[in-house]
Amino acid sequence: MSDDKIRVVVMGAAGRMGSTVCRAVLDAPDMELVAVVDPPHEGEPLDDFGITGTGLTLGQVGPSLKKAEPQVAVDFTNVDGVRSNSRWCALNGVHCVIGTTGLTAGDMQDLSGLFDGERANALVAPNFAIGAVLMMHLAAIAAPWFESTEIIELHHDKKIDAPSGTAMLTAQRIAEASTEWAPDPTEKYVLDGARGGEGPGGIPIHSVRLRGLVAHEEVLFGTTGQSLTIRHDSYDRTSFMPGVLLAIREVMNRPGLTVGLDSLLGF
Ligand code: NAD
Repeated sequence: MSDDKIRVVVMGAAGRMGSTVCRAVLDAPDMELVAVVDPPHEGEPLDDFGITGTGLTLGQVGPSLKKAEPQVAVDFTNVDGVRSNSRWCALNGVHCVIGTTGLTAGDMQDLSGLFDGERANALVAPNFAIGAVLMMHLAAIAAPWFESTEIIELHHDKKIDAPSGTAMLTAQRIAEASTEWAPDPTEKYVLDGARGGEGPGGIPIHSVRLRGLVAHEEVLFGTTGQSLTIRHDSYDRTSFMPGVLLAIREVMNRPGLTVGLDSLLGF
């Protein structure tokens, strides 16, 4: 065990994202995976989830986790998991990187109270894919130069919510960057919903669900005689890992609660 490596615990380590994070942390030369938490799988070896040779067993937050002396916890669980895990981390001085989605405004307020920069910091990001963060940033830059915009998000056929959180956030960022949009000319609907859902700022969002896809989004802008399309594709869960590793490295240097990766990328 080397002292200068960042000591990481993964919460939700048996899950799809959690196990991918375990692999990424193990492959990062400046990090050490010191514990794995997943209460529904307590006592099961991490090997059973495709990450072999670590000798780690899935556990829960509490005294045995404290003994492992984690510095940063990465949470890809569910909303209830974040609520309890983050409290434990804040009280025990463990910085948190939270990727779990579905957090309410109240949850965000609680996190900002818990992570006041005194004992621990937290970073919450609804999308760790650096390309998706760039897509939203570029969309906000483009918005004032166009009269029309629409968003198409495309996901795998197991996604139960629509539209995606990233599409909603993209619309919000575009709406904040410009309010000058041409009115929708549609007067007659042959099919209900043909113009998509109305996102923030009235921006239409269209959701496609298709077997074989992972997570994709197109932001379309139009003005006289030209259009601009900004597209991002996540082909598998490894697309989120550079952003997660960046957050693990940076969270301890950013007092309090940080939302999104934008400031880490210099935006
Ligand atoms: P999953 O169901 O495969 O994994 C969740 C895991 O958390 C399960 O193994 C479960 O047993 C475990 N768990 C439940 N309660 C727990 C607790 N209290 N403490 C620790 N572990 C607990 O789900 P997934 O596909 O890995 O997604 C997890 C979350 O990550 C979802 O909210 C998803 O929307 C989000 N997500 C975020 C990003 C991003 O970039 N921010 C990307 C993909 C997925």
